[in-house]
Amino acid sequence: MESGRVTLHYQPKLTLTERELTGVEALVRWMHPEYGFVSPAELIEAIETTGSIDILFSHVLNLALAQIADWTGRGLRIGIAVNLSVRNLLAPEFTRTVADAVRQHAVPAELLTLEITESSVMAQPERSLPVLRELHSMGIQLSVDDFGTGYSSLAYLRRLPIEEIKIDKSFVQGMVTDLGDMAIVRAIVDLGHSLGLRVIAEGVEEEAARDALRSMRCDGVQGYLLSRPLPLDRFEAWLTSRTMPVEAPAGERLVSLRVRV
Ligand code: C2E
Ligand code: CA
Ligand code: CA
Repeated sequence: MESGRVTLHYQPKLTLTERELTGVEALVRWMHPEYGFVSPAELIEAIETTGSIDILFSHVLNLALAQIADWTGRGLRIGIAVNLSVRNLLAPEFTRTVADAVRQHAVPAELLTLEITESSVMAQPERSLPVLRELHSMGIQLSVDDFGTGYSSLAYLRRLPIEEIKIDKSFVQGMVTDLGDMAIVRAIVDLGHSLGLRVIAEGVEEEAARDALRSMRCDGVQGYLLSRPLPLDRFEAWLTSRTMPVEAPAGERLVSLRVRV
């Protein structure tokens, strides 16, 4: 981390109705000097066993907040979603760490989203719920990742202070050819909306999936169809070639971006 080899790639998320870029997901990448590229799954697993996951989280959070500050400094409203491990949420002083970092970088808290997996919240609900409430009261957006794969109690889901659920890519990828997956995706969209949540589909690779999601009124999509996760310089090039500013409402300093058709 200190030598700058642990960096972030960014993958855009957009709304299906207005094609508005709502933000990007930050995905960690490690270029090891001997082994080359190490996948995030391997990196996270290894780092969790060493007990250094908090250090990785702080590193990723600071990179993400610095990037939000850079974009807001240029008048752009682009939020960033950061992934959390189970351990992060249960670390002592977790909310303080996040609050201090947001304050230091002086960015609007609502431009930061934390993605938590269904299984991590459900692991110890009585411990994670107060933490989530505190983050939510600070204005940070909360999203439940990999939705549909875990073991969620619906009664519990209803009590979570979240704004968004992300349908797991396994269902999204299967929905074009598998009626069962299609049914699950539709059910999750309806469930999310009934609970007043925004529903995002991840892993959208095909136009057919995107069109079906639109007809189900799914709110947003993320996936290779729009863009792979990109290093910063290539993401900036993507922004330049693929988006244009939306006129900001009166009194609003930051402009949102719309993806060109
Ligand atoms: P995730 O949070 O579910 O992230 C989405 C994964 O799906 C990413 O894999 C992304 O590259 C991939 N993806 C996006 N669009 C598509 C698509 O259209 N098709 C397919 N097949 N895949 C797509 P990635 O970058 O390898 O990350 C894997 C996992 O590692 C993430 O899954 C997340 O759980 C974890 N991870 C990544 N960065 C971090 C981090 O900073 N902290 C923690 N705790 N976990 C992280
Ligand atoms: Ca995620
Ligand atoms: Ca996911």
